[in-house]
Amino acid sequence: MTGTLEGKSILVTAAAAGIGKAVALEAAQEGARVTAVDLNKTELDKIASDNISTVELDVTDQSSINRIVNTSEPFDGIANIAGYVHHGSLLNCDIESWRKSFAVNVDSMFFIMRVAVPKMIQNGGGSIVNISSVLSSLKGFPDRVAYGSSKAAILGLTKSVACDYIDHGIRCNAVCPGTVDTPSWRKRCEELGEMMGSYQQAREFFVLRQPMKRLGTAEEVAGMVIFLLSDRASYITGQFYNIDGGIMM
Ligand code: NAD
Repeated sequence: MTGTLEGKSILVTAAAAGIGKAVALEAAQEGARVTAVDLNKTELDKIASDNISTVELDVTDQSSINRIVNTSEPFDGIANIAGYVHHGSLLNCDIESWRKSFAVNVDSMFFIMRVAVPKMIQNGGGSIVNISSVLSSLKGFPDRVAYGSSKAAILGLTKSVACDYIDHGIRCNAVCPGTVDTPSWRKRCEELGEMMGSYQQAREFFVLRQPMKRLGTAEEVAGMVIFLLSDRASYITGQFYNIDGGIMM
């Protein structure tokens, strides 16, 4: 621990598992007061501590977002991490899945930033980190039309917010992971395994797709998020960072 977030108040979404959990735990280790939110309160409560308060939240629920943000102290940092992966191409993505992808992946960030940014401005600024993906405007992968489109929208949203609030001391950046070993990825791997014959075959398919021939870890992604939330990144805004084992090299 180096205390890079000492004294800061940080909101982390999707904090019960995977990348969000790694970010919440590392932010607390770095000295932040963390408000950790997730749909899954049972899993979320497992990371509750003196520095981590846990609140059940569906990030698509705008009124609950407003209530939580309005009743919290101003956030110095926000890690918008919640996401939903739909499997399907243009011709087999129904409208509900398309809308859900945008609701969870994009609207949630819009809702959270809309209510948190005015308090951040009053407080003298802050840092926002939005989790996108290399699978976005950066790169296409098969059967990810709704996911890739929504993750591309996050990059546009991030740059717009960075531009509009730079004079208020607010930085806004995005992180674009490649394939990261998390609970939701393992579930996707199980589903693919059923089609391919075994979980192991599906895992190998994903691993061989990585130029580094291994998956990323949630902690590797969290390291970049923590850096961007901290003052060590004070001259960085409107950027995106790929953490992808070389996919975009
Ligand atoms: P994960 O499955 O490990 O964790 C997801 C968490 O999000 C769960 O705790 C779940 O309860 C919570 N969640 C889901 N919907 C929610 C909602 N509506 N409101 C609140 N919480 C909700 O996920 P992960 O793999 O760590 O993914 C985190 C982010 O990283 C996502 O935005 C994802 O798109 C992105 N990402 C992941 C990968 C990867 O390979 N894992 C790659 C690129 C980008």
